Amino acid sequence: MAKAKSNWIDISLPIHAGMVGGPNDPLVTVKLVRDPAKGDPVTMSQLTMISHTGTHIDSPRHFFVDGTTIDELPLETFIGPARVIEIKDTDSIKPAELEPYDIQAGERILFKTKNSSYVYDSDKFVTPYVYISNEAAQLLVDKKICMVGIDYITVGGYATREDNRFVHKLFLNGGVSILEEVNLKGVKPGKYELIAVPLRFRKLDAAPCRAIIRPI
Ligand SMILES: [Zn+2]
Repeated sequence: MAKAKSNWIDISLPIHAGMVGGPNDPLVTVKLVRDPAKGDPVTMSQLTMISHTGTHIDSPRHFFVDGTTIDELPLETFIGPARVIEIKDTDSIKPAELEPYDIQAGERILFKTKNSSYVYDSDKFVTPYVYISNEAAQLLVDKKICMVGIDYITVGGYATREDNRFVHKLFLNGGVSILEEVNLKGVKPGKYELIAVPLRFRKLDAAPCRAIIRPI
């Protein structure tokens, strides 16, 4: 019997040793701790990574010491309709470009920028990358969206660290979950169903997720 073709698109990054991370963040390591080639009955690997490794969700705890932790965020946030919006601006996402999209409260918005076309070809941190401007972040918070996704390591700009922190704080304080490091290469703008459930790390600030979408 022919296998039904899946229309799920995996927009998460493969986690592997030495993969790209933030410039000052520890990198992923993978070590075989059980190895049949050495006589062990099974294969087993030990990983070291950070809570923001690969495609991941930030929780308010990332910026606020008393903020909600990743295991406390409602599951409903991470499953449901999402819209992929393609951004033409090669510097940053600005309010004027968002205006025609009539973004509504409760939406999950994934931004596909030029980042997706090349940043993941390298395991080195690429800068500059397209980021969400302070003004656009404020607009999205005012619109009361549910989740924002971006196709690189962080939602805010890197040139000014202050701006990056400001954008994170705006979203996390404004009830917007942050999905970082999705790869939208080859993904057409439009409406999708999204599943991006973070791992259930107790009381942590963030967790990796497997992010998948399919057209609806
Ligand atoms: Zn993060």
